[in-house]
Amino acid sequence: KSTAVRNIDGSINNINEDDEEDVVDLAANSLLNKLIHQSLVESSHRVEVLQKDPSSPLYSVKTFEELRLKEELLKGIYAMGFNRPSKIQEMALPMMLAHPPQNLIAQSQSGTGKTAAFVLAMLSRVNALELFPQCLCLAPTYELALQTGRVVEQMGKFCVDVQVMYAIRGNRIPRGTDITKQIIIGTPGTVLDWCFKLKLIDLTKIRVFVLDEADVMIDTQGFSDHSIRIQRALPSECQMLLFSATFEDSVWHFAERIIPDPNVIKLRKEELTLNNIRQYYVLCEHRKDKYQALCNIYGSITIGQAIIFCQTRRNAKWLTVEMIQDGHQVSLLSGELTVEQRASIIQRFRDGKEKVLITTNVCARGIDVKQVTIVVNFDLPVKQGEEPDYETYLHRIGRTGRFGKKGLAFNMIEVDELPSLMKIQDHFSK
Ligand code: ADP
Repeated sequence: KSTAVRNIDGSINNINEDDEEDVVDLAANSLLNKLIHQSLVESSHRVEVLQKDPSSPLYSVKTFEELRLKEELLKGIYAMGFNRPSKIQEMALPMMLAHPPQNLIAQSQSGTGKTAAFVLAMLSRVNALELFPQCLCLAPTYELALQTGRVVEQMGKFCVDVQVMYAIRGNRIPRGTDITKQIIIGTPGTVLDWCFKLKLIDLTKIRVFVLDEADVMIDTQGFSDHSIRIQRALPSECQMLLFSATFEDSVWHFAERIIPDPNVIKLRKEELTLNNIRQYYVLCEHRKDKYQALCNIYGSITIGQAIIFCQTRRNAKWLTVEMIQDGHQVSLLSGELTVEQRASIIQRFRDGKEKVLITTNVCARGIDVKQVTIVVNFDLPVKQGEEPDYETYLHRIGRTGRFGKKGLAFNMIEVDELPSLMKIQDHFSK
């Protein structure tokens, strides 16, 4: 069997398809998060608000009743099992539903209730008796557009005459067709075509414009420009809302270009720290030796659930087979699976059906599995050319010691990985 061998100069021998390292695909991760967040993600941080007009009073709501929504919309919310607004919704909803409409830029991590909030805003501003597009929501991919559409259908279950249409590639509508659906959800390129080339949407009649997943959007070639061209054709009284899970400077610059006079709401992410986590390393001679070390750990402590990270798909597969042969309940999560398959594996692991999750970097970030007792780096995370990948290390290990719990992490390393490990040790001063 051939395996990837990293040379001292950083080059790699014996590459074949299995040796692929999984790269993080933002849109796929976003979708994965949507699929696995069946309930709200908690945050202990306060919501930060920056008002466009700081002298105007700041309202927040603790109940949905206070929002004076249409009866049928309130019914839809309760039918979804929502009892009270989420942290971000408490602040965002009064702004989003205000008269006259206010623009908003909102940032909070996935699972905190952003989609539910803007769907509520769209549904409350739509006039069911008017049969033309009134709300326009841009999403980075077809799958993400569909997810949002599902929320519209659920929440709008009792809003009988309100309908959704998807402006996505593959949904071919002849030029000049009279669209009677009120809510359009689509990807920027197709929406642009529908507006300007095919004349299907009259942008001057749009009342609510939503730009969802702005961080993923700007990561996709051409989407920022398309979005801005669409936004420029909207009427000045149109409400403009932008959402993002992360807020790097690039997202911020884009947000400010596309949303005039915004209110800004931010909910800081829970910081990942290594403080509650005991970290060990085990010096091994080769891969089999690493596996033996893993077995020794299993033989000596009781492990609830573990996540084991490998650098390549091939290593992950090999380890999975070994562990299954030794009678462990193991599942393998790697980049060759579809997002739906990944979601179902994570769900099974969260439900405790499998005790060990073996994975590549595909799931190093943002995937929330609270009950893991140990994390194992079967391979250290490295960037091209032996440089340790500190951020990925933090994301992998930082997940064990969540919410004040104590975590345990093991690094299985071969001699040539020792310098990288020492660098990691220095970097985190741990
Ligand atoms: P985001 O868009 O920030 O990722 P979502 O709006 O998709 O977050 O919400 C995440 C999960 O929490 C979804 O399953 C959603 O149905 C649920 N949810 C949203 N708002 C509430 C609420 N106020 N009460 C209970 N559950 C909610």
